[in-house]
Amino acid sequence: MPDSDLAPPVEPKPAASPAASPAASPAPSPVASPAPSPVASPVASPVPPAPGALEFVRAFVNTRDVEAGTDRLADPASWAGWAGEHGIRGATDAEALARAIDLRESLRQALLANHDRLPLPASTATALTDAARRSRAAVTFTPEGVVLAGRAGDQGMDAVIGRVLGATAAALADGTWARLKVCANDRCRWAFYDHSRSRTGRWCSMQLCGNRVKQARWRTGQAT
Ligand SMILES: [Zn+2]
Repeated sequence: MPDSDLAPPVEPKPAASPAASPAASPAPSPVASPAPSPVASPVASPVPPAPGALEFVRAFVNTRDVEAGTDRLADPASWAGWAGEHGIRGATDAEALARAIDLRESLRQALLANHDRLPLPASTATALTDAARRSRAAVTFTPEGVVLAGRAGDQGMDAVIGRVLGATAAALADGTWARLKVCANDRCRWAFYDHSRSRTGRWCSMQLCGNRVKQARWRTGQAT
C-alpha cells in the first residue's frame, strides 16, 4: 500500500461543496498577513503549509479552484480581496491580471512536472523570466545570501509577482521546489506541498482525490 507513505495528510481543499469560496484558503500563511481570512476553513484539520515564502507560491497557484470553477484573479476586485489577505495593497487592471493568469498556469504545469522530477519546463522558465523583467524584480546581494524580490514593495500586481519570483528562485535553489506539486487528479490540480518522506505524494488530499481516483479505477475495473 504505497500510498500510506504519504506522511501527514496534505491539505484538504477548501471543501468539496460548490458553495466553497476559494477565499477559505486553509493554509496559515507564514508570510506576515494582516489577519486571518474571515471566511473560516470548513475543514478544521491541521494543514501543513509549504515552508517559508514558498507558501505564497502555493497560494498564488490556488487562486484558481479548478474543481469549483472559481478564480480570484478573474477581476480586479476579486484580486484585491485576495491580495489584501496577503498584505498586498493597491489596484490592478485587466492586462496585468491576464499576464498573472498566464504565469500562474505556467507554474501549474511546472508543479505537474514535479511529479516526475523533471526540470523546470522551458515554457515556465520563459514565463518567469518575462515576469521578472516586467515586474522590475531585482537581485540584491547581502551577507546572508542573494535575494530576488520585486521593487514594488507591497503595492499592486508587481508586489504579487515579485513575491512569487523571489520564493520560486529560492525554492529552486534550496531544492524545496521539487516538492511543490499539483494534485494528480486532472479535475482538481490543487497545489500542495509534498511532505512525504518518499516524495511520492500525488494527491492534494488522500481523503478527497486519492480515494476518489481509486474508487473510479475500481469501478472501471468492475465494469470491464
Ligand atoms: Zn486533488
